Amino acid sequence: MPIRLVVTDMDNTLYSWVDYIVPAVEAMVDAVQRATGFPRIKVVQSLKEVYTKYESNEYPYALQESSLFREFPEFSSFDKLIIEPARIAFSEARRKYLKPYKSVLETLAALKERRIVVVALTDAPRNPAEQRVKRLGVDQHLAALYTMPGFQFPAGPDGAALVAPDILQKEVRGEYRAACPTVELPRELEKPNPQGLKRILATYSVDPKDVLVIGDSVKKDIAVAQTLGCHDVWAEYGTYVSLEYRERLDIISSNAITRRHANNVFEGGQQSISPTHTVSNYGQLLGLVDRLG
Ligand SMILES: [Mg+2]
Repeated sequence: MPIRLVVTDMDNTLYSWVDYIVPAVEAMVDAVQRATGFPRIKVVQSLKEVYTKYESNEYPYALQESSLFREFPEFSSFDKLIIEPARIAFSEARRKYLKPYKSVLETLAALKERRIVVVALTDAPRNPAEQRVKRLGVDQHLAALYTMPGFQFPAGPDGAALVAPDILQKEVRGEYRAACPTVELPRELEKPNPQGLKRILATYSVDPKDVLVIGDSVKKDIAVAQTLGCHDVWAEYGTYVSLEYRERLDIISSNAITRRHANNVFEGGQQSISPTHTVSNYGQLLGLVDRLG
């Protein structure tokens, strides 16, 4: 039977999460430091506290929830003088460093042409996951995007949203949404829980034998594929993180966050699970789809 469905991981499979998050958060820290004159350690630790609470360093409203805001509690000046430059710095770095790996877009287009359904399954929260597929143009090729629950806007003591009015309006107009449908899975379905993948198989009524799962994490992506009897493909190229980036990531990101987005960082050495197929670039997926079909 030919492959009918490809389930793809996102972080470190479609693009390098580490290569973009490190400079983007660092740029944001620089901007906050310039705006407040605070020492770097104070800025980093106040952000990290919020990131840790939400288990994501892409939590877009980190500053208004951080201890920094408690020092400057009037929102509109805090927004203009601190949040806005930080947001611009983050998104400029993201624009520069968030790039799809070689042959990702071409491969997704080719799969679509072969009428193979492609669904993304990520442990990232909905909002940043949607942002990334949108910015990369990946959403054009996806039948659906399965994520962890999205973030809500933080609220002030009076219940009003603590975000700039233009962001609120953009959210209401759906400008942050991806072109493909999005499904938020409950938190406990984070990989390696196979229930997320199982739900996808049920939704598309496909036999596990006709499904190929690709991802960089052996303990998450390969494990869920093997548990359900799908073909598993290890995106080994996504596992290379330089020591320098690893060290810079440790400064801005807690282990719980790194585990969610780049679990492979912790997966060195002997593994109890061994991948059935390994690719050194995303484009090799096409050859595999042909061979397995
Ligand atoms: Mg990954």
